Amino acid sequence: MKPKITFPYWGNYTIAFKTWVEGLGLESVVPEKTTQESIKEGARIAPEMYCFPLKANLGNYLGAIEKGANTIIMVTALGGSCRLRYYADVQKKVLLENGKKVDFITFDQSPIDIYRKLRYVSGLPFLKILKVLWFGYRKLRLIETLERKAQYLRPREKNKGETDSLLRRAFDKLEKIETFKQLRKFEKEIRAQISKIEIEQREVPRVGIVGEIFTVSDPSVNHDIEKRLGQEGVEVHREMDITYHLKKRIFPWKDWTIQRKIKPYLGSTVGGHGRDAIYEMLNYVKEGFDGVIQLLPFACMPESSVRPILEKIHQDSGIPFLSLSLDEEVAEAGVQTRLEAFVDLVKAYHKKKKVKTNSDR
Ligand code: SF4
Repeated sequence: MKPKITFPYWGNYTIAFKTWVEGLGLESVVPEKTTQESIKEGARIAPEMYCFPLKANLGNYLGAIEKGANTIIMVTALGGSCRLRYYADVQKKVLLENGKKVDFITFDQSPIDIYRKLRYVSGLPFLKILKVLWFGYRKLRLIETLERKAQYLRPREKNKGETDSLLRRAFDKLEKIETFKQLRKFEKEIRAQISKIEIEQREVPRVGIVGEIFTVSDPSVNHDIEKRLGQEGVEVHREMDITYHLKKRIFPWKDWTIQRKIKPYLGSTVGGHGRDAIYEMLNYVKEGFDGVIQLLPFACMPESSVRPILEKIHQDSGIPFLSLSLDEEVAEAGVQTRLEAFVDLVKAYHKKKKVKTNSDR
């Protein structure tokens, strides 16, 4: 049977995933954007105590299977205490129990395993696979760059909403780009357009977002938190993205540096990106940020384990801190209310710091 491939929806990264699958000459069934309804559908069939992203993924698969997908691409972790290690196995079983028989192609995140499986499924030679992967990565990197620019521009733009409407158009175009030449041209154009967005040159409060990689970087599961904060006049920073994760896999000693820096708070690993959350929060405190938000998917062991430590850093430093637990039951209105209250705190903290700095001069 000819594979019709789908994969989890993951915010704007979905564009890069589609590029990879189609670049390999495979037929893709691109998952629909995750919605509260699709999450609820996934949660309905998922094991209740499993972590939140698994439920969101299952919701994506159900929609894609309806549209003809018969093969799912999923990554797994090689070891550690993160449940990602068992995602593909659990998802396959859950789907089967619900009458959906699909194949899984599971990558264990090692370059050899990725190459072998891509070669097997596409039949393409090494250099061609490399080219496809590089092309998709260039798109992925551009997505991350644009998201970072938006974090800076949103709270400062003169015409409210201009950054987001430009981004929406940009991502629509990016999806259709097929060659390196088109991509280079597009990159130039979009950078020029972004530089034309009029902003007010003023100091704004800054908030760092820490937490589980999928939840922090997919606006459809985190209730568009970066956009909401930007609209409230707050500049957002987020270290955690796919490039950060890849760098850590390529340069494993980075983990050692992180462990050394967080030693007063944690002496061992907790799996996932738990250690990174502590490291990032300590950096945000050092850099004089005005708040930190942890996005914690329900039943995520690594993030739940570090939550008390993040609380402790908040108590030691005084920086405003919000830990937002997300699952299928969390409603948009609830998130908005908690964010508004937190933004008030952040603004007051920022103002107090400013007054203190001025009086110290
Ligand atoms: S990091 Fe947390 S939410 Fe993500 S797969 Fe691991 S346990 Fe689940």
